[in-house]
Formats: sequence, structure tokens, C-alpha cells
Amino acid sequence: MPNTRAYAAAEAKAPLTPFTLDRREPGEFDVAIDIKFCGICHTDLHQTANDWGGGTFPMVPGHEIAGVVSAVGGKVTRFQVGQHVGVGCLVDSCRTCVECRKGLEQYCAGQVVFTYNSMDPKEGRVTYGGYSNKIVVDENYVLSIPENLPLDGAAPLLCAGITLYSPLRHWGAGPGKKVAIIGLGGLGHMGVKLAHAMGAEVTVLSQSLNKQKDGARLGADHFYATSDPDTFTKLAGQFDLIVNTVPAASNWDQFIGLLATNGALVVVGVPDDAVAINGFPLIIKRRTVAGSLIGGIAETQEMLDFCGKHNIVSDIEVIPMQQVNEAYKRVSKSDVRYRFVIDCGTL
Ligand code: NAP
Ligand code: ZN
Ligand code: ZN
Repeated sequence: MPNTRAYAAAEAKAPLTPFTLDRREPGEFDVAIDIKFCGICHTDLHQTANDWGGGTFPMVPGHEIAGVVSAVGGKVTRFQVGQHVGVGCLVDSCRTCVECRKGLEQYCAGQVVFTYNSMDPKEGRVTYGGYSNKIVVDENYVLSIPENLPLDGAAPLLCAGITLYSPLRHWGAGPGKKVAIIGLGGLGHMGVKLAHAMGAEVTVLSQSLNKQKDGARLGADHFYATSDPDTFTKLAGQFDLIVNTVPAASNWDQFIGLLATNGALVVVGVPDDAVAINGFPLIIKRRTVAGSLIGGIAETQEMLDFCGKHNIVSDIEVIPMQQVNEAYKRVSKSDVRYRFVIDCGTL
């Protein structure tokens, strides 16, 4: 599929500019998708800035893809033309390792192929993501989007949604559990909606009280500012689960102090520096500090079906592709309510 239109960063930290690429013609197990919308994840900012190293440029970001099937290969069984589908952070994995066989493809011990900036053996080149108007993906890595959900609001579920759903499920968020979400951004606001729908008591820990009204509307029961030292005395020892979505290093010891006995602090936001933690507060209450990466394919489908059932989508601001660089600046200043979504029809 030559002449696919896209936006790319030509080099690290460069603004995104128009770019043309070739997608493969759909093979027998492939699904060709007309991309309608793609969310802007904070990871796209980290990657185009090459914060984590190993970036291949030009880079076409985007792993919150929602669109419509335009063609299917002869052996595709699960999708048909016209269906609403999504693609998240993964487009392939080894399929044979222990993790893949358990549906934990995101932790694949073999070769995992991320949706962008990842070597793709099928294409013989780096993968290009969803800031484009078409993509071709093996059916095993394509998700079905419930027809009652709007495609623009559903796009961020493919990363922000699953990244919060997976730890909330793994650590048992539900009735009788107290869950706190640190950072009310793209990931955080999905965490509030999902934890609330699961029946947990939800607290937002935000830098200030500026977003307090939104927190209540999204489903939070309580809202506290981390800039207020009283927060850490008032809430000491309360939470069964705290999910940290902050894309920067912060004082994890303060948050560990808020955990109940057996509580877990789960890190999903990527700190920009090493974080020191003390052992004693962990030991005296059998607390855990853990990390979590997106979710597997089956769990992502489970999350989408859960969102379909509960009518959950992301709160979004839709922008034309031409405004992507301004949107990046606003995301870096935490000035987003709560996810930018690119209208890929504007390409
Ligand atoms: P985002 O929309 O920018 O939201 C991050 C929120 O964190 C902000 O809205 C802000 O909330 C708070 N925050 C930002 N800078 C902060 C700072 N310096 N100190 C304290 N709080 C700060 O970002 P996102 O898209 O949700 O992504 C968040 C992080 O998760 C990124 O590092 C991203 O790479 C990572 N991520 C991880 C996974 C995974 O699988 N683990 C998946 C996707 C993304 P308040 O204003 O409420 O404080
Ligand atoms: Zn993401
Ligand atoms: Zn594998």
C-alpha cells in the first residue's frame, strides 16, 4: 500500500512533519485498516525526543489507533470489511514463549514488535505507527472495538485504557478496595473511570487541586494535592493499590507511606531518573513496589468489552494532524483534558 500519508519526526526532538511511507499489501492473515483516529500518548513525546535511546528516525509515532477494516487476507477469520477495530502498542510477538502462550505478549521473551520504532521482520524495516491514514496488521494483534463506542473516544483505550485496566485487575481493584491514582492525565483519567466502574473507592493524587471538579465527574470519590504535605499525613496507611502514572521521578517513599498492609505501589509512568526507596516502610507492612506494562492482547479485548458494557471512553480533544506539535507542547505542560486525539482524516 504505497503512498500512505503520515507525520514523522525526522530526528530526535525535531517537530513532526508530513511523511510518506509504504505499508505492505495485506497477506493472508492480515487486516488492512483505514485509520480514523490516533491518540497522543506521553510515550510518543518520550520516543520522538529519544529519551530512552535506541530511536530510529524518521519516526512515525502512534499506538492508540482506531479505524475501520478496509480489506482482509484470505485466511482472516475474526474480522470483516467495515468493522470498527483498534491497534495498540503491539503488532506482533514470538507467539511461542511462556509469556506469549499465557497471553502476556507485552512481556514476550522472544521478539516483540511494537507498533512503532521497532524492527519488524515482516517488513524488513522499522515499524511506523498510527499518525498515518492506513496500517496493515496480523489479525492476532487487531482488537475489535464495540460498536456502541465512538471511535475517537475509544482510540486512547488502546494504550491509556489497557495500561490502567491491567494493573487494576491484577491487583484486585473492586468493591471494598481503596485505589489511588497519581497524576490525572491521559492514563490517570482512564484509571479513575475504570477503577470506579470496577467498584473501588477511588482517590486522585494530583499536583494541585486545579482538576478537582473533573476528578469528581470522572468518578473519583476523593481528591488530594501532592503539593500539600498534609495529604501524606491524612492518608497514611490507607490504600490497597496506588497506580503512579507520573512521567517523571518523584518521591516514592511518600506514596509507599500511604499504602495499607499488603498494599502495592504500581509504577506505570516512566520516571526520567532513578528513584531511591527505603526498605523499612516496605518491611513493616509487607508492602510491594511493582511495575506494569500495557496488557496482553486477550486482556486488551477484555478491557474494550468492559468499556463497551460500561460505556467508557476517554475524555478527548480532537485535533487535525497539522496541530500535533502544539499538542505535544501542551502535553509536556500537563495541559490536556485528558487526551489529544488526532483526526487522521485531516492527513
Ligand atoms: P500525561 O497525559 O502527560 O499525564 C501525566 C500526568 O502526570 C499529568 O497530567 C500530571 O497530572 C502528572 N505529572 C506530569 N508531570 C509531572 C511531574 N513532573 N511531577 C508530578 N506529576 C506530574 O501522560 P500519560 O500519557 O498519561 O503518560 C504518563 C506516563 O506513562 C509516561 O511516562 C508514559 O510514557 C507512561 N506510559 C506507560 C505505559 C506502560 O505500559 N507502563 C503505557 C503508556 C504510557 P496532575 O496534573 O494531575 O498532577
Ligand atoms: Zn502509550
Ligand atoms: Zn513471546
